[in-house]
Amino acid sequence: MNNIDGIIIKAIDGFYYILCDDVEYCCRSRKKFRFKEIVPKVGDRVTINIIDEDKREGVIEHIHDRSSDFIRPPISNVSQVFILLSYLDPKINFEMLNKMIINFEATGVNINVVINKYDLHTQENNNEIDEIFRNFPYEIIPISVENDMNIDLIKERLRDNISCFCGPSGVGKSSLLNKIMNKDIMETSELSTKVKRGRHTTRFSQLIYRRDLNAYIVDTPGFTSVEILKHIDKYVLKNYFIDFDEYSNCKFRECSHINEVDCEVKHALEDGKINKMRYDMYVRFYNKFKEKGR
Ligand code: GDP
Ligand code: ZN
Repeated sequence: MNNIDGIIIKAIDGFYYILCDDVEYCCRSRKKFRFKEIVPKVGDRVTINIIDEDKREGVIEHIHDRSSDFIRPPISNVSQVFILLSYLDPKINFEMLNKMIINFEATGVNINVVINKYDLHTQENNNEIDEIFRNFPYEIIPISVENDMNIDLIKERLRDNISCFCGPSGVGKSSLLNKIMNKDIMETSELSTKVKRGRHTTRFSQLIYRRDLNAYIVDTPGFTSVEILKHIDKYVLKNYFIDFDEYSNCKFRECSHINEVDCEVKHALEDGKINKMRYDMYVRFYNKFKEKGR
């Protein structure tokens, strides 16, 4: 038996392309997975049996447990997302940002919030952003793809992760992906030429590997619009606001943090310890769920 471990970086018509220590194998999957209703996915860590070393052919023998499972794009084991936004053009949408955060918290991936197009900002814009995001529970990374601001920082964050860029249309996701995959990757991965040429025509997501960073990057940006995942209702909504976590000593154990007396979350809000935009979004989503009996 000649078994090795790798990661599925591409799947086309029942063939899986698996990167094992820099060598790419083309594999079929053992039929047994079908009975277990597991279909191999891009991002899966797998054990393959090499059938023909010269032709780089093998068979997937085992799919390792997934640490996360994305639907759009359909990739497993994504460890972090970059929610990309712009402040001015298109104008920042706080509702969409917070919906995305809730869904990613529910999916269990690390969240990075990135604001692009800083080259367009006045000093006043920067001050507004600082004010709006004061005590925001996630770090805000300011970047500009246009003039290379903090692009190296983003690359550093990609290290040792499987990462996906998400965000509304027009914020610069493709530009950032291109910048990151650009000639650097040509030098580091044999996949790059195919990927670079095929990017706008391929319909399937695949992973790009940057050897220098040991980083896998989903080559297609994540969804552009979003609704809060169906299993989340008004009772559990608060669990996905990590900024509320440390204020769990409300008078009522089932406190919704809306109208109750002696609510720790509301005290923290009054003391400026909880970000106002975050709290307002919580109330907005809560009331919408309530209206719909959700
Ligand atoms: P996507 O829809 O999120 O993939 O966004 P694109 O990458 O297609 O970019 C949308 C537009 O924003 C394009 O015209 C880009 O040239 C522009 N853009 C991207 N990054 C920047 C930036 O850092 N500054 C400015 N001023 N424009 C940018
Ligand atoms: Zn409360």
